Amino acid sequence: MVSLRFYAELNDFIAADRRQRDFEWASAADVPVKHLIESCGVPHTEVALILVNGEPVDCDRRLCAGDRVAVYPAFLAFGLRPPLPAARFVADAHLGALARLLRLAGFDTVYGNRLADGEIERLAATEKRVVLTRDRDLLKRRAIGHGCYVHAQQPDLQLREIVARLDLADRVQPFSRCLICNARLLPVAKRLVRDLLPERVRDRLDSFHRCPGCLRIYWEGSHWRRMRERLQRALAATAAAPAVTAQAATADAATAAAAPPATQPAAGNCSGTFDGACATSRTSRGTR
Ligand SMILES: [Zn+2]
Repeated sequence: MVSLRFYAELNDFIAADRRQRDFEWASAADVPVKHLIESCGVPHTEVALILVNGEPVDCDRRLCAGDRVAVYPAFLAFGLRPPLPAARFVADAHLGALARLLRLAGFDTVYGNRLADGEIERLAATEKRVVLTRDRDLLKRRAIGHGCYVHAQQPDLQLREIVARLDLADRVQPFSRCLICNARLLPVAKRLVRDLLPERVRDRLDSFHRCPGCLRIYWEGSHWRRMRERLQRALAATAAAPAVTAQAATADAATAAAAPPATQPAAGNCSGTFDGACATSRTSRGTR
């Protein structure tokens, strides 16, 4: 028998009668503490600090009868975990709207509604991606080093939760990625895309970007402005909301390389969230 206590939001994962208090847990001798924590329902990715008998230990620490285990959540803001090497994500199949918002905010986010758990685990391990999911069993996989259980259910709130939890506010680069295939947008001269633009756009705007993956062309249109406002609202409550308006609104032909605007495909097979156009008839080639 060992004594356990989970702190703060980790209590959301455990049975109601064990929350916010010490409880006894039958455990075989010489079991890693990671196994014990996950058998209570808490994925290891949600844990920042484990104390056994008052001493910090790692996940592989073997337990003995009578040990007292205290488990604390991912207090990244307090430096209890190393910062993320890069803000790259792989989103589980049920988080498509969040994946799109993360791309809108400029974060490299792999997503596909047919990504199997094993593929997500492989991407997390080989590309050092943070797994985003509402499936706690997925986060228990050993090869997943960084992951976030997404508590919120509404996409804008999910974005806010992830940005706040991982302290990403100063890494936001709005409108720098293709929403469809995740590639970084590149500025493109108007003369190269002129014939592909709707007349009203060709006459009115001079700054354009193109996705090197799906070849969609992006510009600042009415959908772009709506999405800019949505992003600003979603991030408003984080510690240091990025200057979405300032950065994006000043992107013009001269400065667009630093802050490329994103847009929405306007052509028929390019349904998206911004103003834009398909340069070819190619559809999305995948999830990244
Ligand atoms: Zn693209």
